[in-house]
Amino acid sequence: MENKPAASNFIKNIVIDDLKSGKVDQIVTRFPPEPNGYLHIGHAKSIWLNFELADEFRGKTNLRFDDTNPLKEDTEFVQAIKEDVRWLGFEWDGLFFASDYFEEMYNRAILLIKKGKAYVDDSTADQIREMRGTLTEPGQNSPYRDRSPEENLDLFARMRAGEFPDGSKVLRAKIDMSSPNINMRDPVLYRIVHATHHNTGDQWCIYPMYAYAHPLEDAIEGVTHSICTLEFEDQRPLYDWVVAECEMEHVPHQYEFGRLSLLNTVTSKRKLKLLVDEGFVDGWDDPRMPTISGLRRRGFTPKSIRDFCRETGVSRGTGAVDPKMLDHYIREDLKLAAPRTMAVLRPLKVVITNYPEGQTEMLEAENNTENPEMGVRQIPFSREIYIEQDDFMENPPSKYFRLFPGNEVRLKNAYFIRCNDVIKDADGNVVELHCTYDPETKSGSGFTGRKVKGTIHWVDASQAIPAEFRLYEPLILDEEEEEEGGSFLDRVNPNSLEIVQGFVEPNMKDAEPHDKFQFFRHGYFNVDPKYSSPGKPVFNLIVSLKSSFEVKK
Ligand code: ATP
Ligand code: MG
Repeated sequence: MENKPAASNFIKNIVIDDLKSGKVDQIVTRFPPEPNGYLHIGHAKSIWLNFELADEFRGKTNLRFDDTNPLKEDTEFVQAIKEDVRWLGFEWDGLFFASDYFEEMYNRAILLIKKGKAYVDDSTADQIREMRGTLTEPGQNSPYRDRSPEENLDLFARMRAGEFPDGSKVLRAKIDMSSPNINMRDPVLYRIVHATHHNTGDQWCIYPMYAYAHPLEDAIEGVTHSICTLEFEDQRPLYDWVVAECEMEHVPHQYEFGRLSLLNTVTSKRKLKLLVDEGFVDGWDDPRMPTISGLRRRGFTPKSIRDFCRETGVSRGTGAVDPKMLDHYIREDLKLAAPRTMAVLRPLKVVITNYPEGQTEMLEAENNTENPEMGVRQIPFSREIYIEQDDFMENPPSKYFRLFPGNEVRLKNAYFIRCNDVIKDADGNVVELHCTYDPETKSGSGFTGRKVKGTIHWVDASQAIPAEFRLYEPLILDEEEEEEGGSFLDRVNPNSLEIVQGFVEPNMKDAEPHDKFQFFRHGYFNVDPKYSSPGKPVFNLIVSLKSSFEVKK
């Protein structure tokens, strides 16, 4: 895998220091998704950060499913996540499930109870919330806080045995109800959930909370640098408390960085799920979705996503990044790699009246004008062709150099044509143009007799392949932060998808799903794996050719 290491950043500096000082011999990182949805571009950032760091310093990275919530998790998501991580170009060292550690977590909880550091609380969730206090007021002790270890051991065993209904009891850490850090006010460690788990089935009806489970998972796996996003900063004291009080042999450390957020984009599984469930998109892999599977279907490459992750940097800042930056990296990746061909998205028929009927000639065209190694191809030219509807105007403004009555343009890789007649239907719509061509002006012939100002693209009508083009705009409309009380669903762009029917060159009849092309003057397109059928390719617009974003050099 061709890769440039991350630029210097604060996490990398910590790793360098820890290796230098001998605090760690080898770094171990992990990517810990909850299998409750598909991965998105924010996860890609975390994947890239964890795997790249380990790669650069000869460490290890685990893929660990943080599956402690049976109600939302599913094996379907486990498979999809594995596929996405691999597709991004990364291979994990260990593959683990938090649920594999349930027994150990349970035993550590017993240790806490024996030490007087955890207790069973019969309060309701509401009561616990009320007693928690606020940022300015301390919390209150629960009436169950002083249960003896013996009583707690008995109750906790019976919680596990399934004697109590959901929500009737929890196990809480006994820390400090007046701690200035609300996370330390006797957080819940275990809850009762009678549900079938995707991995452990009906073996358990008590499940550890994230704040308890995560540090133990890291400790069990020997993770050295546990990297998470900034929202977890206030949980770090609890993370350290759990590792210390559970007497874990290995002591992992948590480091936080600013999560990736993008303008015009939602990056939250909960919100993405809503877009799917409410039918705003056609599934998690809809090409408008910022999921890895959506980006893949749209036509983004693993390299473009890795480059994007690297260049957006690692910091404790939280500013949103413009998705145009991702567009920049896909253009860079495809510039020399994608064949450049002609596609007519909104066809208008042109009859070349002085071209012999029944004749076809083959014209040579370069496959990529910036990359001669891609060679040449032959494209047919005959009496009837299609051009783009908006490459013709009956009454053009000044400075319109494309086709209009009496004007001459160059057909890319072919001849000059002049527009003589405009054919309309009964409603006055232009349905066909009659043109003449000048055989002297063939591309590559060195013709210098006169010049034309416009070059337009075309396809041969008799041999062109019908194709569908799916054109995209951002799924989420404005760039404002979500308003209090409002829903991001109000900002879904009603015009985020436009479908048009046109034609591509005949040599594209064998295009395979995920083949990528640059269509002259239109942009980069990907053959859609879901909707394409033999002989009728469907193309997703990845990105247009224009770039309004420039990376600072
Ligand atoms: P979501 O809010 O979309 O549900 P999550 O954080 O709940 O995301 P997890 O499956 O728990 O999803 O996340 C797995 C890892 O990915 C975590 O380490 C998390 O910090 C990281 N991650 C998630 N979103 C982002 C983001 N936008 N930027 C950077 N890292 C992220
Ligand atoms: Mg989560």
